[in-house]
Amino acid sequence: KEPTDINALCDEYLRLSYHGLRAKDKSFNAEFKTDLDESIGKISLVPQDIGRVLLNLLNNAFYAVNDKKKTAGADYKPMVIIQTKKTGEEGIEIKVIDNGKGIPQNVINKIFQPFFTTKPTGEGTGLGLSLTYDIITKQHNGSINVESKEGEGTAFIINLPVTVS
Ligand code: ADP
Ligand code: MG
Repeated sequence: KEPTDINALCDEYLRLSYHGLRAKDKSFNAEFKTDLDESIGKISLVPQDIGRVLLNLLNNAFYAVNDKKKTAGADYKPMVIIQTKKTGEEGIEIKVIDNGKGIPQNVINKIFQPFFTTKPTGEGTGLGLSLTYDIITKQHNGSINVESKEGEGTAFIINLPVTVS
């Protein structure tokens, strides 16, 4: 672990995710923005691993808005937001929010299982969220939760302790 600017990491991986998807599919387009709490100082974490977490959550979010765009009306505006905020003196929260297709109730309790995917063969391995879960809970003593409404969107909420260890 090393002292890391989590806001800079969020900003960097948001661009990386968006431009990575654009590079693969020129027709891919979505709005995205950051909402970052500037009062967060450097926190102790493994930047490469938290980067993988962010990239996976952001890729999933962009995928979900792109999927919804295929069936939504012309007035649908795909949007992905990454948010950080302090939660008291000893924690921070990172939220990845999308207004994509959402997660059905009968699926939501399976998404953190290894190899669970609803994506076509070749587009998903189903390993992203299980890896994400391990990195957050086991490696960083944090927690991850999901809130979703089918057809409306999804938010993944990560809580991390900031105690230097
Ligand atoms: P993969 O992306 O390879 O399918 P993940 O572990 O990252 O694997 O995600 C597992 C499943 O969770 C996805 O296939 C999808 O059904 C669901 N999912 C994850 N994030 C979102 C999201 N933001 N919106 C809708 N569904 C999601
Ligand atoms: Mg994924």
